[in-house]
Amino acid sequence: MFKIAVLAGDGIGREIVPEAVATLKLIAEKYDCAFEFTEALISEDAYEKYGHPLPPQTLEICKQADAVLLGAVGSPKMDLLPPELRPERAALLPLRKELGLFANLRPVIVYDELVAASTLKPEVVRGVDILTFRELTGGLYFGPKKRTTLADGTEEAVDTLVYNTKEIERIVRLAFEAARSRRKKLTSVDKANVLESSRLWRETVLKIAPEHPDVELNHMYVDNCAMQLVRWPGQFDVIVTENMFGDILTDQASMLSGSLGMLASASIGGKVALYEPAHGSAPDIAGQDLANPLATILSAALMLRYSFKLEEAAAAVEKAVRQVLADGYRTADIMAEGCKKVGTKEMGELVRNRI
Ligand code: NAD
Repeated sequence: MFKIAVLAGDGIGREIVPEAVATLKLIAEKYDCAFEFTEALISEDAYEKYGHPLPPQTLEICKQADAVLLGAVGSPKMDLLPPELRPERAALLPLRKELGLFANLRPVIVYDELVAASTLKPEVVRGVDILTFRELTGGLYFGPKKRTTLADGTEEAVDTLVYNTKEIERIVRLAFEAARSRRKKLTSVDKANVLESSRLWRETVLKIAPEHPDVELNHMYVDNCAMQLVRWPGQFDVIVTENMFGDILTDQASMLSGSLGMLASASIGGKVALYEPAHGSAPDIAGQDLANPLATILSAALMLRYSFKLEEAAAAVEKAVRQVLADGYRTADIMAEGCKKVGTKEMGELVRNRI
């Protein structure tokens, strides 16, 4: 029995998460496994009831679970709160920290049926299937910061980019393992021509590489990687990189697929991993049965693969999503000529009918 904490959150989270949960329930029936779901409040509902977007009860439910399924956080009402109570800062970051999640995984898959949804040319994006590992707990975002006023009154600000070998080794090993189960190609992205932290990153990657002789390793400077992602994204299989480079590159890579509604993500590293769509709570379409639930359903597939090691079940969900697209069904965000437009609930049902 696997225990899943379910945090629907704000906006469309309340519509897309039930579709992923229903999909997991069907998987339990078909693949001879069992899941126990425990719902918990986060962000606006939690703030209204307990006065904090991440109350201790919710954190405890997550810590006791085997995996966490999260919709999205952020609402017009929460945006009016002081920064220390906003859900990104007061709920998401502490949740990731408490669960010890140090690697964020973002698959970007360009489905043949959605090639036209990308802003890039079909021949550039067709067949793209990239998995990025972004380090989540170190680097520039967490290093010491300071502000000083110089003698002449000029303001100066300092951010510090710190990494140690342990932090690099643990994520690079995960990325090598993932590459091994895919097309066996790993690109480590750094800026070793300029940054000392990147030189340490590269040395550490090279030290670990002999443990994975079957994986082809290459190193790429981050500026070149940004260029290669739009020039020839098909060259990448697995990418591993530090926090800020990963932050920027994953957003760039996400647009290869054309729609935020298709992008799943997983944050792993601790005992309990967190699975969530890459998009936000989309308040502009919330409550209208317009949201695309596929990113959340695909995040549930990642949960089956990475937390529960149910590869066959994960692949069945991904195949069902492909099949629904091949059969011509689309939510509004990915709608194309000649296709049949469906709402959130119907899209979820169509996927389940194909599992
Ligand atoms: P967003 O991702 O919520 O929406 C951007 C655009 O994409 C909107 O037009 C929206 O309608 C559309 N969209 C997003 N997901 C979709 C889906 N599944 N189906 C169809 N269309 C979809 O980003 P935003 O508008 O900048 O932010 C809205 C709120 O979400 C803010 O409060 C923000 O802070 C929060 N946010 C949360 C997360 C998170 O929970 N991890 C991430 C990003 C933004």
